[in-house]
Amino acid sequence: MKYCLKKTAILSVCVAVFLTACAKKEEQKPLNHKLNIAVSSYVPYTFAKSVLGNLANLTLLIPPGTEAHAFEPSPKTIKELKQSQIFFYISNFLEPWALKLDKKAVMLAEGLPKVLPNDPHFWMSFDNAEVMARNMADYVIKIRPDFEMQIKQNLFTFSKEMENLKHLYSSILPSCKERTIYHVGHLAFGYIALDYGLNFKALFSSDMDQEPSAKEIAELVKAIKENGVKYIFSEEQLNPALAETIAKETDAKILMLNTVEDITKQEFAEGKTYQNLMLENLKNIAIGLYCEGE
Ligand SMILES: [Zn+2]
Repeated sequence: MKYCLKKTAILSVCVAVFLTACAKKEEQKPLNHKLNIAVSSYVPYTFAKSVLGNLANLTLLIPPGTEAHAFEPSPKTIKELKQSQIFFYISNFLEPWALKLDKKAVMLAEGLPKVLPNDPHFWMSFDNAEVMARNMADYVIKIRPDFEMQIKQNLFTFSKEMENLKHLYSSILPSCKERTIYHVGHLAFGYIALDYGLNFKALFSSDMDQEPSAKEIAELVKAIKENGVKYIFSEEQLNPALAETIAKETDAKILMLNTVEDITKQEFAEGKTYQNLMLENLKNIAIGLYCEGE
């Protein structure tokens, strides 16, 4: 009994010391410890999650469930932007509204190794994704040198993950028996085709500003039938009716691809990362193009 009391007393002292230590640590934290960062679309959002981790509070301006190309900033967007210390966006090509809202907005698509003239979905190439993440890291470190060590560690992990994804893609995609991605969606996967020697046919332009004509739809249906294609691809933010009609007419099945810029509310709630989504894309491409590999 005596022993127990003694033990309890020691434990109480320990808890008290621990709590005091915690309180002291809390006091030493600078105010506004985290950076408040606004990001245009889900692409810089997921990069920031990887590279900055819990060092930043993130505000996603294009809400989940919104088609990124059609986005127009509202008064709410402007208010959210004013509360942020940094605003990252991808490019003027993709988000012409960004610099109009904030002259100091930071463009991530600088110094990219791969740029296709008509396709602003630069991040679909892992080499570009790595440079964009590094641009983000460099900018934040300049403002907050005290975050340097953590950010560099995160960036190192992100680069390793890009290497792994590149390895997976390049070990699977060369084996595909079918070499063309027939996409009932927009011109967003050109970089995957470029990096891995595939062909890519999309029904919509890169900014989705025009509905495809009846002639374009008929040409796609003809190509699918003539080539005996069994799988066509589509994407979440599109009305599924068109892909379903084409699938019915060609007797093909539909597989989904994700552009990362458009995220559903559910994917957002699940915290899907760029890495997750690019793996899912690979899985579906491998099914649709009859690929083997690893
Ligand atoms: Zn797009």
